[in-house]
Amino acid sequence: MRLRKAARVILVGAPGVGKGTQSERLLQRFPQIQSLSTGDLLRHNVKARTPLGIKVENTMKAGGLVADDLIMRLISNELYKKGWLRRPGDPDVMTLSSTATNAEPASYGELPVDLITSTAALDAHAPPVASEDPSASFILDGFPRTVTQALTCDKIVPINLVVSLKTPIDVVIERITSRWVHEPSGRVYNTTFNAPKVPGIDDVTGEPLTQRPDDNVDVYRERFRKFQETSEPLLEHYAKKGVLWEVEGMTSNEISPKLYEEFERRFA
Ligand code: ADP
Repeated sequence: MRLRKAARVILVGAPGVGKGTQSERLLQRFPQIQSLSTGDLLRHNVKARTPLGIKVENTMKAGGLVADDLIMRLISNELYKKGWLRRPGDPDVMTLSSTATNAEPASYGELPVDLITSTAALDAHAPPVASEDPSASFILDGFPRTVTQALTCDKIVPINLVVSLKTPIDVVIERITSRWVHEPSGRVYNTTFNAPKVPGIDDVTGEPLTQRPDDNVDVYRERFRKFQETSEPLLEHYAKKGVLWEVEGMTSNEISPKLYEEFERRFA
């Protein structure tokens, strides 16, 4: 389905609610939308040993948050590169270019941090302009994570929809605890819809199944608590701006149709 307006979207959801799934489905249904994941961008930089990658490697390994200014530079650089943002006065390459709808996929390769668009652009008198071309539509994944990042994000790009994905925590926990893995092969079982023939035993090898340490309920509750702590003020920030929309469902399949309908209502 084609969009008539540029969608500049953020998905917010607790770990395990299926943000990735919804994001993928939206990209399939609306081919003009692309997604931008700070996690992926960062991992790419680490792998390619760019100055940025070297800087953030330890923080990421320790599970900490990368410094806001690095994240901002990463994101704004990417938005400029894709032509989704431009300086005031520069032509809108999205509408000028006849190939706008086939915009090049992200080239994560050349991102030496020292060449990244300086955050000075953010403090300049004239703020950047977001392209209103529908093919400049994007979903941000993993950013902004904090209110501080949201405030800076507001300065560079006007987000026009923040989707809060909601699934009751007990449902997510049920999903997580029913997942069993055969480590050597990577075979995954689910006791509710894809159970092994003998509980706790791999069908093929007869070896024992295990649960991933991060599938552990206590670990999950702690991640969920942390998520709520940071996401609540973030959602409040966007609610005040009038761009927050909440969607609830027990499963991804229950959420997707509601999400499509809302996207169509707003952007198609
Ligand atoms: P996860 O969903 O497991 O947190 P991500 O792929 O979103 O994984 O992020 C991986 C790591 O990248 C995070 O643990 C963090 O160190 C860093 N990161 C990603 N996005 C941000 C952000 N917006 N601000 C700070 N650090 C970030």
